[in-house]
Amino acid sequence: MNISAASGLDDVRARIAAGAKASGRDPAAVTLLAASKMQEAGAIAKLISKGQKTFGENRVQEAMEKWPDIRKTFPDVRLHMIGHLQSNKVRDAVALFDIIETLDRESLADELAREMERQGRRIPCLIQVNTGDEPQKGGVEPDKAPALLGHCRALKLEITGLMCIPPTHEPSALHFALLADMAKKLALPQLSMGMSGDFETAIRFGATTVRIGTALFGERS
Ligand SMILES: *Cc1c(COP(=O)(O)O)cnc(C)c1O
Repeated sequence: MNISAASGLDDVRARIAAGAKASGRDPAAVTLLAASKMQEAGAIAKLISKGQKTFGENRVQEAMEKWPDIRKTFPDVRLHMIGHLQSNKVRDAVALFDIIETLDRESLADELAREMERQGRRIPCLIQVNTGDEPQKGGVEPDKAPALLGHCRALKLEITGLMCIPPTHEPSALHFALLADMAKKLALPQLSMGMSGDFETAIRFGATTVRIGTALFGERS
């Protein structure tokens, strides 16, 4: 499939608005994050020129190669880290990203706090929760999330919400419900959940950020 990024954007925006209205929510309360991994600067610029402001990248290395140039042209774009963050990439990540969505362990919280202090750059983070308890996937186990949040707060990290990537072969709704319930109990306002295949469901469960790649850019090659 080779949809143009621009027509994908109109379609996704309309579906977000319809989904929000159907659940009695304000469409403006749902941020569309364009997941731009493996997309070239040209396709990204096209979306920016249509008003898209929030992007997410999975790998620090790839983001370092693409984004400093894009940002010179479009300084008000916001970039989220949405992939697994290795400790040895924390320095670059803190320098480049505006939000880290994948904080999932105490050692990473320690590194992030130290690096933000060193750079004098405080950026908010979301805690990634492994709602499906999948061993190969990033994210803290659900029952360990409160302790991780406490650890982050003790370090004065700003934690604004939770993020999850549900298992591929299970209904996402169960995982979105679990994440929403956890966020409510922990009094965290942001919920980053929902991708191309399930973002309308995520909005129904209270997503404040939906992370969308394929429906905007077409299939990744
Ligand atoms: C790639 C990616 C997305 C977007 O996935 P699509 O199915 O292409 O919409 C969302 N979140 C994360 C963490 C991703 O890596």
